[in-house]
Amino acid sequence: MVITHEPVKIKGQGISGGAAKGKLHFLVHRETRESGTGTPLSPEEELARLSSAIEKAQAQLSELYENTARTIGEKEAEIFRIHSMLLDDEEFRGTAENFISQGMNAVEAVRRSGESVAEIFRELGDDYLSGRAQDIKFISDRLCRILTGDGEAESDEPDEPYILVSDDLSPGETVRLDRRHLLGFVTFGGSANSHTAILARALGLPALIGTGEIDPIYDGESAIIDASRGELIISPGIGELDRFAGEVRKKEADEARLKSLIGRPTVTRSGKKIKLYANIGSPGEADAAYRNDAEGVGLLRSEFLYLSASDYPDEETQFTAYREAVAGMHGRPVVIRTLDIGADKKADYFALPEEENPALGMRAIRLCLSRPEVFKTQLRAICRASAFGKVLIMLPMIVSVDEVRKAKRIFVEVKNELRYECLAFDEDIRLGVMIETPASAIMSDELAREVDFFSVGTNDLIQYTLAADRQNPALEELCRDNLEPVMRLIEKATESAHANGKWIGICGELAADLSLTDRFVSMGIDELSVSPPTVLPLREKILGCH
Ligand code: PEP
Ligand code: MG
Repeated sequence: MVITHEPVKIKGQGISGGAAKGKLHFLVHRETRESGTGTPLSPEEELARLSSAIEKAQAQLSELYENTARTIGEKEAEIFRIHSMLLDDEEFRGTAENFISQGMNAVEAVRRSGESVAEIFRELGDDYLSGRAQDIKFISDRLCRILTGDGEAESDEPDEPYILVSDDLSPGETVRLDRRHLLGFVTFGGSANSHTAILARALGLPALIGTGEIDPIYDGESAIIDASRGELIISPGIGELDRFAGEVRKKEADEARLKSLIGRPTVTRSGKKIKLYANIGSPGEADAAYRNDAEGVGLLRSEFLYLSASDYPDEETQFTAYREAVAGMHGRPVVIRTLDIGADKKADYFALPEEENPALGMRAIRLCLSRPEVFKTQLRAICRASAFGKVLIMLPMIVSVDEVRKAKRIFVEVKNELRYECLAFDEDIRLGVMIETPASAIMSDELAREVDFFSVGTNDLIQYTLAADRQNPALEELCRDNLEPVMRLIEKATESAHANGKWIGICGELAADLSLTDRFVSMGIDELSVSPPTVLPLREKILGCH
C-alpha cells in the first residue's frame, strides 16, 4: 500500500450503474504458463493426461453451471455451457492432441492450441467472436491449472468491504467471489458484451472494465468506484468524498422511499387500479420480480430455453423451467410468451433459411405454426406448469385472426392430450396476444373477440410502425420523436379490448418511460410490465397520476 496525497483518476467503461467506496484489493493471477512444461512423458501418457484434465474440467463446469443457474439465473449460467462446448471443440482439442503427438507436453500443447484457436476467433473480427477468443483463454487456463495442480487465481479476500481489481476475471471467478464484502470490481481488459459483464449486472455491483493496467502499488489504497461516471478514483480528496457522500445519501433516501411502497396497492389518485407486473428473461429472475413486489410477471420471454440449447428443449426441461418461474412468484400470475425465435434471436438447430429481412421474416408465431410439433411441446410444458400457480399464455407477432385461430386449435389438441394422459393443468388458463404489429392494432377489435387479453410490445410496434430497425442506434432519436402514431395504435387497441370486456397491458420498454405513464393511465391501460428494478419507481409514479 502507498499513501498518495493527490487523487488518481482512472477512466474505464462502466458496465453497471452505481458507486461504492472501499479499499482496493488486487487479485493476482498465478502464472501457470511455465509450470508443468518439463520433459514430456510419452505421447500416449500426455494424451491420457489431457483427456483426464478435460473430464475434470467438464465436471467443474457442470457444477458451476448448476450453482449459477440456481443462485443467479439460467441466462447467466449459460457461459459455463459455452465453455463446456468449447472444451470439446474439435479445433481446440485436435490442435492440442497434434502438438502432443509431435512430442510436446500436455500443458504446453493446451496453451499453444488455446492461443492459436483464440487467434482464429479474433481474426473473424466481430465483437461476439472476440468474446469467444477470451472464453478459449479461460478454458485453456482452466486445463493448465488442472494439469499443473494450480487453483484459480488466489484472492485471499479481505474481511472488510473492498473493491476488487484484476487483470481479467473469468466468469467462474466472478460467480465464486465471496460477495459479503465485495463492493464492486475493476478489470484492466474486458468488453461490455462479455459474459463476465453480464454476470456483473446480474449481481448488481458497480463494475468498470477496460481501465488498462493499474499499478499493484495501489493495493490496499482507499478508492471510489463510480460506474455511472466510468471512473475509479484512488485516494479520493475531500471534493470527491463529498460528492460520493451526497450520492450515497440520495441513493439511500431513494431506496428507503421506494421500499416503503412495498405492499401498497398500485392505484391512481382517482382510484384506478393498475396491475404492476415485471418482465423476466429466465425463471431465476422471478426472485427479483417478487422482491420488488411485482404483482405478477407480465412477460416471461421463453426464448432463453431455446437460445441456450444446442437442440430443441424437450417438454420436461421446459416444464421444470416454467414451474420454477411460477413457484418464484408465489401464486401471483405469470404470463408466459410462446416462442419468439427468429430475426435477431437465432438458434442454429432451427436451421432457418437465410432471409434478406429477418425482422420481417419467419419468426415467432409464424415459425410455431409452421412447426406444430415444436409449438405443441412448448404448450404442453406451459399447461403442465399451470397446475402449480396462475399461468397465462401469450402469442407474439400476431398479424391476423387466422393465426390466432390456428394457434387455438393446436392449444385445444394439447389440452385434450393432457386430459387423456391424466396430466394436471389449469382448465381456466387464459390466452392473450401481443400487439406489436400495426396489423394487430388495426385488427384489434376482431382479435379482442378471440382472446382474453392484449399486451403491447412497443419495442416491435415502434419498429414496424415507423419502419425503423430497433437494432440501429442511429434511429433512436427518430423513434423518440415520432411516438404519436404508435400511441394512437395503442389507443385503438385499448378501445377494442375494453369494448369487448378484455384487459390490455404494455410489456415493451415504453412501459418504463415515466414521462408516458400519465398518458397510458388516461387512455385506460390496465397493466404495465417493466424490469424488476423499475417496478417500485413506476408504482411511485402511478400513485401520483390522476
Ligand atoms: C416488444 O416487442 O416490445 C417485446 C416486449 O418483445 P421483444 O422485445 O422480446 O421483441
Ligand atoms: Mg417483440
